[in-house]
Amino acid sequence: MTRDERLAALEQIANEVRACSACRLAGGRTRAVPGEGDADTEVIFVGEGPGFNEDREGRPFVGRAGGLLVRLLGSIGWQRDAVFITNVVKCRPPDNRDPEPDEIAACAPYLRRQLEVLDPAVVVTLGRHSMGTFMPGSRIGQVHGTARQADPTTGARDATVLAMYHPAAALRTPALERESYEDIARLPGVLQRSRDRRAGIAAVAAAPSAEPAADAVAPSTGVVAAQAPLGASIQTAEPPAPADVGSQLTLF
Ligand code: SF4
Repeated sequence: MTRDERLAALEQIANEVRACSACRLAGGRTRAVPGEGDADTEVIFVGEGPGFNEDREGRPFVGRAGGLLVRLLGSIGWQRDAVFITNVVKCRPPDNRDPEPDEIAACAPYLRRQLEVLDPAVVVTLGRHSMGTFMPGSRIGQVHGTARQADPTTGARDATVLAMYHPAAALRTPALERESYEDIARLPGVLQRSRDRRAGIAAVAAAPSAEPAADAVAPSTGVVAAQAPLGASIQTAEPPAPADVGSQLTLF
């Protein structure tokens, strides 16, 4: 897909979001918040839902939580406009309550299509509801700062997921803010390893005599095989994982 095709596809999704009434959140919104960012990016941040300021402006992460996200990105030398930022629900839940499961399900096709268009190397989840989409059954207190292979059914067909706390939660709790800086410090390394792995898989796919690369990655479990073909260079330092994150893959 060319850049122009990606821009057109993202705008098409955004227009559908702005006209959407597929769940009860449509009734309370001022403006829908489809998401924004670089159409050429390798990294997409997925939060939970718009808040007060986002609902007013129609843009994601423009309030205090957005300010912290910008500082977190700045701590690794990245600019906000170098990534793409969106949420699991595109309309503001009333009184900033958590999005309901049926609302997340109703909105999921938009996120899936954004991921299909952007084909990111890394998806950074912000908060437990976003994490729940990409690491179902996990607990944010145990998996923040860790990464695993994305399930392609999410729309991220060949991505690594890095879990982080939501910046709004980090603003409320200094310990979580400190941990968020530690977690995002891992992002450049996660991105590089994802690039390397994707390049290795692409090389396998391009090789005339290559066997199918199905044994390189087992997306349904998120486990990267120990014997990845052609030097797919993801490094898998298996952690002493907590018992309830058995399929978790820590990449650093
Ligand atoms: S939250 Fe998503 S599904 Fe619900 S009305 Fe908004 S765009 Fe549509």
